[in-house]
Amino acid sequence: MSLLTRIVPALLACCLSLSGHADSPGRHGDCPVLDLSDDTARQHLMDHVCYHTASPGDPGHEARSPDQLPENFAWTPANGHDLVFSHTESVYWIHLHVWNGGDPHRLWYLKLDYPLLDEVSFWQIGPDGYRSSMITGDQYPFASRQVNYRYFLLPLALASQEQRQVTIRVHSSGALNVPLALETPEEVIASSNHLTLTHGLFYGALVIFAAFNLLLFFSSGTPYYFHNAFYMAAMGLFLFAMGGFANQYFWPESAHFANLAIPISLTLCALAMTLFGRSFLEVQADTLPATTLTTLAWFCLGFLALTFILPYSKSILLNTVLALTVIASLLVVAAIRWRQGYPPAVWYLLSWIVMLAGALVYALAAFGYLADFLARESLMQATIGGQVVLLNYALVQRWRLLNEKLLQMEHQARTELEFKVHERTAQLRSTMHELERANRKLAALSLNDALTGLHNRRHMDAALPELCAESRRTGQPLSLALIDADRFKAINDTWGHAFGDVCLQRIAEVLQRHAKRPRDVAIRFGGEEFALLLPGTDAQGARQLCEHILADLRHLVVATPDRAGLTLTMSAGVAQLVPGEAPESLFQRADEALYQAKSSGRDRVCVAALALSD
Ligand code: GH3
Ligand code: MG
Ligand code: MG
Repeated sequence: MSLLTRIVPALLACCLSLSGHADSPGRHGDCPVLDLSDDTARQHLMDHVCYHTASPGDPGHEARSPDQLPENFAWTPANGHDLVFSHTESVYWIHLHVWNGGDPHRLWYLKLDYPLLDEVSFWQIGPDGYRSSMITGDQYPFASRQVNYRYFLLPLALASQEQRQVTIRVHSSGALNVPLALETPEEVIASSNHLTLTHGLFYGALVIFAAFNLLLFFSSGTPYYFHNAFYMAAMGLFLFAMGGFANQYFWPESAHFANLAIPISLTLCALAMTLFGRSFLEVQADTLPATTLTTLAWFCLGFLALTFILPYSKSILLNTVLALTVIASLLVVAAIRWRQGYPPAVWYLLSWIVMLAGALVYALAAFGYLADFLARESLMQATIGGQVVLLNYALVQRWRLLNEKLLQMEHQARTELEFKVHERTAQLRSTMHELERANRKLAALSLNDALTGLHNRRHMDAALPELCAESRRTGQPLSLALIDADRFKAINDTWGHAFGDVCLQRIAEVLQRHAKRPRDVAIRFGGEEFALLLPGTDAQGARQLCEHILADLRHLVVATPDRAGLTLTMSAGVAQLVPGEAPESLFQRADEALYQAKSSGRDRVCVAALALSD
């Protein structure tokens, strides 16, 4: 707040004093002679300087040398102020009367620290008829200067007690700054050395940053590295031109380029800022910020072309407005991106705030509020340097963010992979369980008969030897009964195979019902042939069981397809395992008993003798 309250009145005062300069008439006597040998007097040079603003129509406007000025030319004393003139068509005349009050013949330099003046002419006129002049400015080749230096230096060599009238004529388009100083050669060298060091450091750092960003661009292909390098190059060129270095080193012969360099580099800066901002802030395409920045970039290109057509005074004004618009837009876009939660935007914003603060102070200085122009230049360099460092730090932040994102993605991918592996393993395990269950089912199926659900032949083949071995071991009896349906072929032939199957199911139900001890096993081991494996049951028990079965069957009436009732009969052969007997032998004896039952009239039970046949 306090800065603002100082700045605003200062600006107003500055403007008022500028408009007042031309009107207030002055007298030659207000510009006292300056003794060059007096260091304090030299420090207060502006107390000795007079000037005249010759607007169009004023006799001073057309005059090309001091001789052409009228006798009664009205000089205004500077009264210790720097000479700062706003954008104007006027010609400025500056006058200074010096003498060497010391003893020896000595050399001084009148230094004009503003390299952008189009036309500066110096005249030295001595009372003894001495006369010399230097006509220079950035509209003249660099060689027009008596000293090869980016600022204007007028050598003043005066013998003891010698006097000179120094007159300067300045004409330039654009805002005008005429910072004057009187220095000894030693002072000029000292300040030049000091500046060479700071400039070298500044431009060196800028070139290295730009080259590094360019390398990053070539290796990564990321556009904002290129835009950043472009911005630093454009900004470097702009400052190089502003500081007068470009005229001195790049195009000393070309007055045309000297004038074009500033608007061109300013527009390039604006273009680079826009491109960098757009890519760095990751502005989403087809949004208002993106459209604004794209439009501004096209404007920059258009203005760049206009720079070659329009006069300097117009193009510099247009390009300054453009640069300010770009800066304001970028600030808004960066603030939006920051609000949207894009962290690098903070550093970007900060870099622009530093830049803006610097530019504001610089502008104040350019209006004469800050006295020392060199200090202003260093300030601008510090500002740009600060901005460049912050911008590069913002890039590092962005890189860090990307890296974090990458690591996060990698972590997520790994977690997902682990989860998938777990999931797949679980799936595999459950599939294996299912497979096991299916296998068990299949095994059970392979041991069961599909039609009746009783055990099948395969089961009997496996179970019979085991039960025989167990009986041998435990001494418990084991009986085998083979039960065969009587004249079953006739049933099939009469009522069909399907009805035969129904009868077989009925028989199985009866068998199942009777073989009710836990270890009894009912088996269908052939077409209409059944067996009962009866562990712990002797031949008599088995016979009894079979008799019950046969009796049950006699009472069972199966309804035939022709609605008649059919009664089934079966024959059974029973054998009890004889100690030491093989399973095959047991089966054979039971089969023989069955045959006996069949042959002796069917529907009966025969028991094999408890002795091994030969
Ligand atoms: P026996 O009293 O001498 O045993 O006479 P049988 O007709 O029962 O004996 P045979 O061995 O000559 O005939 C068996 C018949 O059983 C032949 C076939 O038609 C029938 N058969 C065998 N397996 C099946 C089956 O799965 N379903 C049906 N419906 N019939 C079967
Ligand atoms: Mg039969
Ligand atoms: Mg049979």
